[in-house]
Amino acid sequence: MSRRAFHEASQRVHDYGHLLARWRRIARGAGLKLRTLATVSGFPVCYLRSRGDLAGGFYVSAGIHGDEPAGPEALARWAETHLAALVRANTLPLFILPCLNPWGLTENRRTDRVGRDLNRLFDRKISPIRELRRAIADERFALGVALHEDYDGRGVYLYEIKESPPNLGADLLRACTSKAMPIDTRRRIEEFPFKNGLLRDRIPLESVTIRPEALALYPEHAPHFLTFETPSEFSLALRVRAHIRLLEACVRHLTRTRR
Ligand SMILES: [Zn+2]
Repeated sequence: MSRRAFHEASQRVHDYGHLLARWRRIARGAGLKLRTLATVSGFPVCYLRSRGDLAGGFYVSAGIHGDEPAGPEALARWAETHLAALVRANTLPLFILPCLNPWGLTENRRTDRVGRDLNRLFDRKISPIRELRRAIADERFALGVALHEDYDGRGVYLYEIKESPPNLGADLLRACTSKAMPIDTRRRIEEFPFKNGLLRDRIPLESVTIRPEALALYPEHAPHFLTFETPSEFSLALRVRAHIRLLEACVRHLTRTRR
């Protein structure tokens, strides 16, 4: 993408109508249909799934926090580049949620219209979570990824939860960092101990009272789940690139291990 095209696209990262139009094009190009999960505050919340069985596939979501636009933007750009070929190859089942909180994205707000942080309430029967959980009720993916951003972030970091080693986090962070986009080396992020951008210990899940997407889907629907964070104060171009590199590295890993 040229510098000018990038600039123009960047002006529109909170334009949900534009994002949806891109996803309709992406779906058409891959021979799939963009489906509506639910309509929330007047906005359709959509998903895309590959045909056939989703077992062992890749689940990826973005935009549950509307003030974190690099995730939805990167997911669309990644799909614009890779999705048609991936679907044609038919080697990796895919379930994609382009933007879980369109009202928030439009308003540049973390929460939904009534002030709820959806990523704290993933066990609740509220739209679009209830419909999403119904759509994946019988599915078990090999890997789930949620794309996020952090206003306090000083680089990229990753929450990785996995049933058993080996973990992927260090390799993934290596794939998406550069001199301009380093790893966040804080030793405490939120209330968790971190080392080199990764959770230092296994989270004692029973001690976590909130239910983010990761912990609601793990382990039943995704025995390996990544929550990826880029630093909101860095340039959008760098943040988007980091998300795209993470997605590319995940797909490389999954296609290698499915062979
Ligand atoms: Zn977030």
